[in-house]
Amino acid sequence: MDTNITEELRTKLLQSGATLVGFADMQSAGAGNLPYAACVLIPLPPAVVNNISEAPTVEYWNTYNSVNTLLDGIVNAGAAFLHEKGYSALPVTREKARWNTSTMRTGYPYKTVATRAGLGWIGKSCLLVTPQYGSAVRIATLFTDAPLKCDTPVEKSRCGNCDICRANCPADAIHGATWVPAMEREKLVDTTRCRGTMKKRMKEINGFEATICGKCFAVCPYTKKYLRRNGY
Ligand code: SF4
Ligand code: SF4
Repeated sequence: MDTNITEELRTKLLQSGATLVGFADMQSAGAGNLPYAACVLIPLPPAVVNNISEAPTVEYWNTYNSVNTLLDGIVNAGAAFLHEKGYSALPVTREKARWNTSTMRTGYPYKTVATRAGLGWIGKSCLLVTPQYGSAVRIATLFTDAPLKCDTPVEKSRCGNCDICRANCPADAIHGATWVPAMEREKLVDTTRCRGTMKKRMKEINGFEATICGKCFAVCPYTKKYLRRNGY
């Protein structure tokens, strides 16, 4: 591991706009020639999240897209920095991730990287939950062969007996299971029900189809704590 390159990369990612950065050793997760990963995180604005606890909004859709664009810029800047230093790097921008709308998968383990980078756990909602912002976050990943000094993975859920996301899901898609590392996504959430309901609600409420909802994370107590800290 190389402490210097780790700290230099952290500084680069923070200066490029990341709010939190974590580093993950992905070798045991089957990563090939790029065994390390940085996870960068940006919290969503509290005012926007506060408005989606009942229904998705156009404001949330616009914010979701603009934060994703910011994240693309951050991981691209990190990759350029690593290339200059002589390392390989793969920034998983939205274009590279090739989001598959039928499987709702990108082919890259974003959330696994986030847990292994110590940023949070996977909630009963199947979303990353961070102690600081709940699930009101967007994340992006940068894979590399630079020998990063990695953070301690989070391997335990802190959802406890909470059931709020399951109880509030309009699709009844959340099963209520407690996450453990390497758990299949389907054990946590029925993605077909979730996706269908997201599209339908956006169309009914805002007049266009988009696979976005957010109710499960807007009502999460960890997200609520973040909102309260910001006056909501
Ligand atoms: S995004 Fe909406 S529909 Fe999907 S699991 Fe969360 S609350 Fe349910
Ligand atoms: S609402 Fe409760 S159960 Fe769901 S992710 Fe948040 S803490 Fe976990």
